[in-house]
Amino acid sequence: MEDEILSIIKERGSVFQNELWKTLGIDCRKCSRIVARLLRKGMIERELVKTNGTRTYLIKMADKKNVEVMGDFDYSVLLSNNSLAPCAGCNEECEPEFCNSLTEWIHELLR
Ligand code: SF4
Repeated sequence: MEDEILSIIKERGSVFQNELWKTLGIDCRKCSRIVARLLRKGMIERELVKTNGTRTYLIKMADKKNVEVMGDFDYSVLLSNNSLAPCAGCNEECEPEFCNSLTEWIHELLR
């Protein structure tokens, strides 16, 4: 399935995650897990975008220059009172304004 996803991205140049799972005929959670694996391997990158009023990710093949930049990333900005930001590692397609995990984490930041 990973190869199939990579082949779709290479063929199209980029793909919306909320279209990808439909194209593959799998459910969105399974698609999210596979995409997360490819992200961890540094093979793809994605950005949060809004399309047709829905937030989703635009997935592209990884730019090796960006992977090198991430090596210098200061991960402490993802911590609040030793609690990791819920978005770090989250594989859900989301609408941040309605996410309880993110809301609770922001409230913790404000305390
Ligand atoms: S806002 Fe919520 S659903 Fe979206 S990435 Fe963050 S934790 Fe995940």
